[in-house]
Amino acid sequence: MKIAIIAHDGKKADMVAFLLEYKQWLEKVDLVSTGTTGSHVEKAGLKVHRYLSGPLGGDAQIASEAAEKKLDLVIFFRDPLDKHPHEPDVQMLMRICDVHNIPLATNPAAAGLMMDSLLKKIN
Ligand code: PGA
Repeated sequence: MKIAIIAHDGKKADMVAFLLEYKQWLEKVDLVSTGTTGSHVEKAGLKVHRYLSGPLGGDAQIASEAAEKKLDLVIFFRDPLDKHPHEPDVQMLMRICDVHNIPLATNPAAAGLMMDSLLKKIN
């Protein structure tokens, strides 16, 4: 099981709170993330492979894993109230998830439903 974690700056605190709810289970999962999100994930006590920061190409690196069907879920808490210099990469990542039918959660409510569903599958 491999899950990608990305959060825009305005959503990083929400991401950490979300991950802590599932911490026990996430300890058994391979996590990958964009750079700065990853440092927050590590501070929350989880192991994660950190790619480049999003604006430097991290979203593109995660999209590459999605294109190779190496991801079971992408959790991407986007901040809809802010502008992002790497918006083209964000759109590209979401498009690649749709091309390859990779579950993509863009807010905590959706991510919770998807995580619960994955948990049921593996238990
Ligand atoms: P970051 O990138 O985790 O390096 O902040 C996230 C993003 O904005 O794509």
